[in-house]
Amino acid sequence: MRVVLLGPPGAGKGTQAQIIAGQLGVPAISTGDIFRANVSGKTELGLAAKGYMDAGDLVPDEITVAMVKGRLAEADAKGGFLLDGFPRTIAQAEQLRSSLEELGHGLDCVLELVVDEDELVRRLSGRRMLVDGQWVQRSDDEPETVRHRLQVYREQTAPLSGWYETEGLLARMDAIGAVEEVTQRALTALEACRGARPDGPSAG
Ligand code: AMP
Repeated sequence: MRVVLLGPPGAGKGTQAQIIAGQLGVPAISTGDIFRANVSGKTELGLAAKGYMDAGDLVPDEITVAMVKGRLAEADAKGGFLLDGFPRTIAQAEQLRSSLEELGHGLDCVLELVVDEDELVRRLSGRRMLVDGQWVQRSDDEPETVRHRLQVYREQTAPLSGWYETEGLLARMDAIGAVEEVTQRALTALEACRGARPDGPSAG
């Protein structure tokens, strides 16, 4: 299956992406994780992305799209993938669609995780990640940057919800609740998507 997870920062995309991708047997591809690994490794890509990330802004489409195209061309993504954090702009979505079309593929489902903004702020300000055995706050999870990232989401990424709905690919789901409950809802929504595709099990 070729799936996109859509949702604001703090909606739980990363956690759900890992679990769902494991269940589907496809790689979870997180653009944020790839960028962070490049920032830590001080690569050229990391140096180009760092300033935008620290400010809570999007890395320019040109850089991001080239990186994702490279990742999707790797052998493990040939049979399917779950994208977490990409696309984040309509331009990225258009590029993804044409790259997949060139390969004779399309997306099966765009799963939107819906969480209200108060809950997002609460989750993000309490979020910590493990680095070298220490729990640390991501620099872009500081309160002011969080507010900015949510604004960037509203302005640049939220329009993708309507865009994918028009494409007939969108499944929206409530992402509040225990991790396992949300996973179950996600898997049910994905099954519905799969069944609705022309090559899905319930077709013909
Ligand atoms: P995330 O871990 O998905 O919250 O991403 C962390 C940061 O990486 C974002 O705030 C952006 O600066 C950058 N980033 C991740 N994915 C994208 C994308 N698809 N387009 C542009 N920037 C991105």
